[in-house]
This record gives sequence, structure tokens and C-alpha cells, in this order.
Amino acid sequence: MRCPYCGSLDTQVKDSRPTDDSSSIRRRRICPDCGGRFTTFERVQLRELTVVKRSGRRVPFDRDKLQQSVEVALRKRSVDPERVERMINGIVRQLESMGDGEVPSETVGELVMEGLKGLDDVAYVRFASVYKNFREAKDFEEILGKLAEEPESEETPRLKKKPAQSEQ
Ligand SMILES: [Zn+2]
Repeated sequence: MRCPYCGSLDTQVKDSRPTDDSSSIRRRRICPDCGGRFTTFERVQLRELTVVKRSGRRVPFDRDKLQQSVEVALRKRSVDPERVERMINGIVRQLESMGDGEVPSETVGELVMEGLKGLDDVAYVRFASVYKNFREAKDFEEILGKLAEEPESEETPRLKKKPAQSEQ
């Protein structure tokens, strides 16, 4: 598993255990090269899913992309990663249970909105406001880019450097 921080391929598993609902295995990993820590999940995939975009183009469903958009919406919100994992599992199971394995991109967006509503109000509003503006004309992935562009208004302003007079 490649380190998301430095790209090293030599990461190690420090701890491995099932999530609370036993639907996934959660592994804590550490990168010996940069000391970065991250978590991965191993899970069941029941069937291959295809997302049908507004343009009619069909692309394989990408769970990581969905997860990324959820994480962008949840940025700086303290939500237990296991709850996020459960929500995404729930979305994927719903998608898997729909029809013939082909799902409109709009359905994916709606399910994410519903899921976030139960998870975190701020994340829901962030996602919904961008999603609602974009769903008429744009594809789901563009929401990702739009969310990532939003100014980080909650961030503490950087401290200005003090004048160096007193150090003389
Ligand atoms: Zn690393």
C-alpha cells in the first residue's frame, strides 16, 4: 500500500481489526520512510457497478472517488472515521441492490447527500449547496473539484511575524 504522504511503497500494518459492525477490516498503517500514519479498510464488493453520467457515458463506479468527495465535505469536522465508513458502505450496498448494476450519477449524489445529512449538518450543507448548483449540467466528479476550491474560512488566520526589534 503506497504511502499517501511520500509515495513510499514500503508501508507497514501496525494494527488490524474489524470495524464495529464487522463489515470491514480496519488497518492502521505507518510509513517507515516519512513516519506518516494512515488507515485502510478491507471490504466486500458484491458486484461491479457502472455509473451512467448525464452525457450517457458509462464509467466504472469508483468508491475512492465517492469517499474523497465525502471527506472533502467533512473537512475539519470531527466525525468518527468508522461512521463515515459505515455511511459509505451503506451507500454502496444501496447502489449494488439497484437494478442491473447501472446507476445514474445523480442517484449517487442524492445518496451521498442523504448520508451526510445524518452524519454532520455542516458537511451536508457544504455538499448539498455545491451539488444542487451543479447537478443540472455537470457530472458528479466536478462537485469534487468545486468543493476543494472553496475557501477555508474556518481556518485560523496565520500569525504575522513579529518585528525583530527586541531580538537585537
Ligand atoms: Zn511516507
